[in-house]
Amino acid sequence: MENPFVTHEVLNQSPPFEDVNLFTTDLALTEAVSREGGGGAVKRLAAFGEVCGSASAFERGRLANDNPPRLKPFDSKGHRLDLIEFHPAYHECMAVSVAEGLHCSAWDHLATPDTKPAPGANVARSAGTYMAIQMEAGHQCPITMTNAAVPTLLLQPDIAGEWLPRIFSREYDKSLKPASAKRGATIGMGMTEKQGGTDVRANTTAAVPVGAGGPGAVYIVTGHKWFMSAPMCDAFLVLAQAPGGLSCLLLPRFLPDGTLNTLRFQRLKDKLGNRSNASSEVEFQAAHGWLIGEEGRGVPNIIEMVTGTRLDCAVGSAGLMRLALANAIHHCRHRTAFQRKLIDQPLMTQVLADLALDVEAATALSFRLSRSFDRVSDPHAAAWRRLMTPVTKYWVCKLGPAVAYEAMECMGGNGYVEEGPMARLYRELPLNAIWEGSGNVMALDLLRVLQREPETLEIVIDDLSSAVGGDRHLKAHLARVQTMLQEPRLLDRRGRALIEALAVLGAGTILRAHAPAYVADPFIATRVAGAARQTYGQGLDTADTRAIVERALAA
Ligand SMILES: Cc1cc2nc3c(=O)[nH]c(=O)nc-3n(C[C@H](O)[C@H](O)[C@H](O)COP(=O)(O)OP(=O)(O)OC[C@H]3O[C@@H](n4cnc5c(N)ncnc54)[C@H](O)[C@@H]3O)c2cc1C
Repeated sequence: MENPFVTHEVLNQSPPFEDVNLFTTDLALTEAVSREGGGGAVKRLAAFGEVCGSASAFERGRLANDNPPRLKPFDSKGHRLDLIEFHPAYHECMAVSVAEGLHCSAWDHLATPDTKPAPGANVARSAGTYMAIQMEAGHQCPITMTNAAVPTLLLQPDIAGEWLPRIFSREYDKSLKPASAKRGATIGMGMTEKQGGTDVRANTTAAVPVGAGGPGAVYIVTGHKWFMSAPMCDAFLVLAQAPGGLSCLLLPRFLPDGTLNTLRFQRLKDKLGNRSNASSEVEFQAAHGWLIGEEGRGVPNIIEMVTGTRLDCAVGSAGLMRLALANAIHHCRHRTAFQRKLIDQPLMTQVLADLALDVEAATALSFRLSRSFDRVSDPHAAAWRRLMTPVTKYWVCKLGPAVAYEAMECMGGNGYVEEGPMARLYRELPLNAIWEGSGNVMALDLLRVLQREPETLEIVIDDLSSAVGGDRHLKAHLARVQTMLQEPRLLDRRGRALIEALAVLGAGTILRAHAPAYVADPFIATRVAGAARQTYGQGLDTADTRAIVERALAA
């Protein structure tokens, strides 16, 4: 007999977006990797794309966020522990990314004396990061910081000699033990205090030398940090006021005698997103720190690390945007309304295509920036790295929340519930814009380059001038940028206008030269030359929206 309680059959729901290769289905990514010098890594990246897009990887991401970390300050008998407890899924994500080398592969050459960096190492690593963040975003925080810490550690060769071999391991070791007894190590960063994160010169944490002090010497560090993420890292690069001014120190979790260093975690932040990652409030209660470089050089020394994390913010946001877009396209390919698939409804195709233009532009610009990290000795790459890091970080990270929101709406009510990935993506995406230099701070950084390094601006503008070629819209846009630059009195109010104009110019030139015309033409027509708009899905009346969408999620 038929079950009388069966009320209906489930119809017209899209299958889950999973078991998809995040590399081979993403033509904007695969082309960017080859174009920017990472072609040698394509085979490996295709295999990693399979791993990160598997159903089990997405499930790991869900579990790690549904079961956020907890602080255990004490054990049951009251002994100090300062332990962070994570769901096993978080550790699995870490193990996947560490095995892939995302925390260090761009520095592999340092492991063998007299070895040159592998061509495209940063581009290949960025592609891995772009995909791993789609598996799970929070664990990328310690992965990113560890990679970015290397150039700062190198400023203090004795400390680098001790820590780099641990960092270069491909084994993730979650245990709370002295780093010397572990199979691998990760590094975090502590700059932000209660009274300020941007204005780190206002830091009050004090570092007092134990003896004469100086590079590599031990200091006693007392004070606090208001945000210190990934507190289970094995050591942290921290800013503190030494007698000679704001300085950068390495604070390990354990002291050489095997006892816990006095980093006392007060609580974990209750965050909008990024919930799998622990972000702590911490006190340094006469903790031991080792000075990196000279006293008073804290900001220039740690800025080496910050630059690397800014690249990852851009690359990571591009990856998360692409996941939001891919989910939306996938859903619309399966869902029918009014007897037609959503993907075939002209308004919907236009929205999806419009989103795809921004995602491809964000990807193109982020990977051009990655290439500039590979070509360390090329002055053009150095200028691009200096000037376009804040530009790219600003623009790509600002696009993220808007893309996630519109992609969510493409899925209707199914996009808004926590069982699916869209709500989490939407909560995650504002973060990359906030940390490692919020929007205005990126604009101020750009202005600093204009004031202090006019030759850097000159090189980048020369490069962009050659790249606009015969495109009349790009030429006109370049002329507008140059006009803005000629009015220095107004620049402090126009920082955001200028940074956005440079980003769109940079992205437009890359798409013009390398993307199919059905992508480059509408991007330039709407973002460079088009009328102002406030929402997606406009201005593509004559564009081949179907081709743009097909390209954004290849079969
Ligand atoms: C989840 C999370 C994790 C984090 N993890 C870490 C970590 O591991 N280590 C760490 O050190 N920090 C961490 N941070 C802190 C983060 O880097 C800071 O929050 C950020 O740098 C901004 O600093 P603030 O919060 O003090 O804001 P403020 O510095 O007070 O800035 C507030 C706003 O003012 C703007 N602003 C500042 N100066 C100017 C100006 N001159 N003109 C115009 N506008 C200005 C900023 O752009 C920002 O929008 C984390 C933050 C979050 C949210």
